[in-house]
Amino acid sequence: MIKKIIAIDGWSACGKSTLAKQLANKLGYVYIDSGAMYRAITLFFLRQNINLSNAAEVLEALRNINIDFRLNTDSQHSDIYLNGENIEDLIRDLSVAGKVSDIAAIAAVRTFAVAQQQKMGNNKGIVMDGRDIGTTVFPNAEIKLFMTADSAIRVERRLKELSPKNPHITMEEVKKNLENRDHLDSTREISPLRKAADAIVLDNTHLTMDEQLEFALRLI
Ligand code: C5P
Repeated sequence: MIKKIIAIDGWSACGKSTLAKQLANKLGYVYIDSGAMYRAITLFFLRQNINLSNAAEVLEALRNINIDFRLNTDSQHSDIYLNGENIEDLIRDLSVAGKVSDIAAIAAVRTFAVAQQQKMGNNKGIVMDGRDIGTTVFPNAEIKLFMTADSAIRVERRLKELSPKNPHITMEEVKKNLENRDHLDSTREISPLRKAADAIVLDNTHLTMDEQLEFALRLI
């Protein structure tokens, strides 16, 4: 079968990465979590205390960032590395989640990330999830999905995912973070979160993981 590009966009915490991993496994494709790249850049900026309104400082910081994905043989998925350090767990912290949408709105940051994402798609056979994959990164992707789910369900799922490593996290904190990011991501000037005209909507509020996979596979 000819390899395709599968673009999955949608709101925060509505199961994009779960579906993307399922599809990559099933089809033998590479899975790239584009959100992890923005989170990695955010972690670097937080550590270096970068002044976001200083364009020269932002550009210089980006020059010092090297991001790559390496297979984790335990999970059988790729972990993200920042300048050689495995930061897969660190980037899931709320301190990163609280800042990432401001940093992802910066033009130079998006140019930096999108160029790398497009390169990763050169050989096709890739599933990438994010906010602007079907609209900006791969406007010619053969398959485009736009995922959504009821907000209460999304909060519940994200809380369940974060709780083991963040025992003090509250439902209110998670809800606020998701609302805040969705607002910033969909109202920013550059590549705001939008459903591409040719994307198929997948609302998984009432679907099991198997059912959502079946929906996507039928489409493919
Ligand atoms: O997918 P995830 O929730 O990890 O993404 C974290 C943040 O990265 C999003 O809230 C958004 O601000 C940014 N992002 C983006 N474009 C993408 C993927 C993520 O702006 N393609």
